[in-house]
Amino acid sequence: MRRQKPKRKTMLQKIFSRKALLQKRPAKLKSYLVRIDRNSIVKNPDAGAKEAHELIQTLMEITIRTPHQNLEETDERIKLVSCSMSFIAGQKVHKEAHYLCGGMNTEEALALMTKLKQQHGTKVSIKIENVYRTIHLLEPIPPYSYKYLETEVQCRFCRAKLPHTMVKDDYGYDECDEIKRDICPQCKHEECCVIDYESFESYLLGEAGLPKLVIS
Ligand SMILES: [Zn+2]
Repeated sequence: MRRQKPKRKTMLQKIFSRKALLQKRPAKLKSYLVRIDRNSIVKNPDAGAKEAHELIQTLMEITIRTPHQNLEETDERIKLVSCSMSFIAGQKVHKEAHYLCGGMNTEEALALMTKLKQQHGTKVSIKIENVYRTIHLLEPIPPYSYKYLETEVQCRFCRAKLPHTMVKDDYGYDECDEIKRDICPQCKHEECCVIDYESFESYLLGEAGLPKLVIS
């Protein structure tokens, strides 16, 4: 009996220490393939183009010509540009005011146009101009655009299962900082798994029934 007691204790200690050791030891580095979402593939109408045009501003000019007076008092965004009067036999018969509107969105402008057109003798016209910025691209626009499927990956250190999008790289703050790759958001270990993205070429080969490229 005396001899058995310390023996049992040692065995338990061994089991616990082995378990603790297993928990601390990272699992083998595992690769996960993130596949292209087949439903997200769209053909790019501007494929091959080396520049893109980004809409930066929409300029809208509303011109109002009306015999009615003091339109600018109804809305502060309506500005009087010019005023003209006609006289017949010394009698003022018509006054036409020219107004311009600014700072309205399309819905507000259309509502204003509808309201003003109901007033007799009022003419309203709208001019819309889109201002684009040209962006020169380093690579021509590819023939297709697509998204990747959210894929579950596992951290080899803390064993947390997470979507691949949560595993990120850290490029540091200055040039001297080392790039840390595939950081686990939970335990902050780098190289917590390997994430491979399916290439579009590989997807096409698969669609054509040809063997896919082996990612090493
Ligand atoms: Zn982790």
